[in-house]
Amino acid sequence: MTFFPRALAETPATPGLPIEWEETNCLLCGGRRYKCLTEAPDASANGQGLWFAVVQCQECGLCFTNPRPSPSAMVQFYPPESYPPYQSRPERPARWFHGWHWLRGDAERKALARVGQGRLLDFGCGGGSFLKRMDGQGWQVTGLDISATTVCRVRADLGLRALVGSLPHPDLQPESFDVITMWQSLEHVHAPREVLREAHALLAPGGQLLVAVPNIDSLPYRWFGPDWFGLDLPRHLTHFTPMTLALMLERAGFRIKSLRMVRHPKWLHWSAQQAVRHKRGPYWHRWLTSRPAASAASWYSYLSRQADCVLVTAAK
Ligand SMILES: [Zn+2]
Repeated sequence: MTFFPRALAETPATPGLPIEWEETNCLLCGGRRYKCLTEAPDASANGQGLWFAVVQCQECGLCFTNPRPSPSAMVQFYPPESYPPYQSRPERPARWFHGWHWLRGDAERKALARVGQGRLLDFGCGGGSFLKRMDGQGWQVTGLDISATTVCRVRADLGLRALVGSLPHPDLQPESFDVITMWQSLEHVHAPREVLREAHALLAPGGQLLVAVPNIDSLPYRWFGPDWFGLDLPRHLTHFTPMTLALMLERAGFRIKSLRMVRHPKWLHWSAQQAVRHKRGPYWHRWLTSRPAASAASWYSYLSRQADCVLVTAAK
């Protein structure tokens, strides 16, 4: 089924580079029947007023951005000087009440302690703060990122091994890693199934993959819809649920070991601010622009297992 979003037709001509669009079949099952789930603008500082559509496969339920900019056209949506994950910042100490740090730290401790110190690949390493921390704990680390500028910074400023590109990568050998991490990066790639298959090949027997992605089957998405921070169009190309992430991992050959919710009070706070700014949604969205209310709401989403992020540990 061909689907062109209404909003795309209304997109104004932009002063930037021309965008090459592509339509895709379902990224999980290859199905061609999908329905529009939502439409939303690029809410980043360089958004240029462009709108994008998220569709849902009628066969397997996977949600994905469609149509989408081609891989070469996508570069302009990641300005290295202003895209936050590409900035190298010192990590602030984890605080127990910040769900992400606490739960990610907990998952890391449990998953990484079992395999001990070994060889670790961070897919989508960004500014390299996670690599630096793991290097400090004795891990033999390698970073991989699509941005050449960012990778150069990781090498020059942090002195760590980092490669430019995606998976598969010609410089990475099969069964050469004990752990692969994908912190908020799998949703950015054009072919997630192929990336996971390659990650499976790169892991040594018994190796582990840790994947964290935004969860579109969450209360924050239901509350805020197009204003939900986790959409981040068009940079997020796949919009996973716990079920579709687990399915894709299993089809790539992985065995699911654990699946946890992770809450992001800051995402919720930002989403509420966007919704109020755009005058969308009910009046109570205003309450969530207060940080304590956003934190309480994110705890509620976490405790009801509908938080806005999901973290899976999978084994080869
Ligand atoms: Zn499908």
